[in-house]
Amino acid sequence: MNDEIFALVRLQETDQGIGSLRTDIAALPKRTAALEEKLIWQRARVEQATKAIREEEHKRRSLESDLKDQQQKIAKFREQSSSVKTNEQFHALQHEIAFAESEISKIEDRELESMERSDELAKQLKASQQELADNSKVVEIEKESTREATEELRKRMTALEEDRARLRKQIEEDTLTRYDRIAGSRGTALARVDGQRCLACQMALRPQLWNEVRSGTLTPCESCGRLLYFDNEKPLEPDALPAKLKNKATAGA
Ligand SMILES: [Zn+2]
Repeated sequence: MNDEIFALVRLQETDQGIGSLRTDIAALPKRTAALEEKLIWQRARVEQATKAIREEEHKRRSLESDLKDQQQKIAKFREQSSSVKTNEQFHALQHEIAFAESEISKIEDRELESMERSDELAKQLKASQQELADNSKVVEIEKESTREATEELRKRMTALEEDRARLRKQIEEDTLTRYDRIAGSRGTALARVDGQRCLACQMALRPQLWNEVRSGTLTPCESCGRLLYFDNEKPLEPDALPAKLKNKATAGA
């Protein structure tokens, strides 16, 4: 393998490394996104419970004021009944008093119901606040670890980008143009040849093409268009061997 092909192979490895780092970096914020969404509706639940408790308190203040009105009415009717002249007037006032008393009893029932609701809401609020606090801690820890992981990946990315720039300087402009064009359309621009086959598309090479590749000429695969190279230092992969040779290679194992 000549120096330029060697640099190209390294460049492809570096580009693939950069690609997979990019995917990993993009995936990191998704880890915390779900937890943060949970945080939003947990906060909403705390707000709802707090609001409902305030509403119950407001209701009870209003009931308390109604209760005082009825008590004042009763006091007034009692005062009036001491100075009435007829039985009819007296009975009418007694009737008013009984009505006000039944109103008071209804108000007291409603107050009691409201207190029960408040107790229930206070329990809900406490539980929601606890869940929120717990999840907030989890989110903080998760965010910190995501931040650290991102920083680590960015460092690796910077190192790979430096490698990439250095490698590209070792390659002829024309070759780089071919490399970039094929990588842009195929994902990878180079394909290793093994067992006289292109390892990217598995197409067998004609003998003439195989000779060119073996001599170190960058020749495109007739099937997938990738630039073929042969690495005489890399051992043949058993899968790439013709069936006859494969049997021999695995017989000793
Ligand atoms: Zn091919």
